[in-house]
Amino acid sequence: MNCGDLRGRMASYESGAEPTRREVRHLSRCKECAQEMARYGLLAESLEELSSQVVMVPAALEAALIAIPSAARPRLRAAVVVTHLRRNRRSYASGVALALTAGAATWATRSRRLEAA
Ligand SMILES: [Zn+2]
Repeated sequence: MNCGDLRGRMASYESGAEPTRREVRHLSRCKECAQEMARYGLLAESLEELSSQVVMVPAALEAALIAIPSAARPRLRAAVVVTHLRRNRRSYASGVALALTAGAATWATRSRRLEAA
């Protein structure tokens, strides 16, 4: 098990996958990967806080607010954005996880290049 392989799997842990014994052993011995895993934990907490700030808007209220002429509803956009975020929370979380995975892969590739040089 190397750092790049493990870091490529870290996003799956936040999706509920359990680390294997080899991965747990690597995390217990590799300070850098343990720190990266801690960062994933912080990211997950941040996403959880974001989801707890979402205001649930009943569909009928949303439709009534949208029907108000735009000049009279300066705050409506925030409600629509919140509804959009609520509906697409998983997509945003997946996007963040994908970006982190890509970052980890880039880091691993760079590390291998540095080791080879
Ligand atoms: Zn490692």
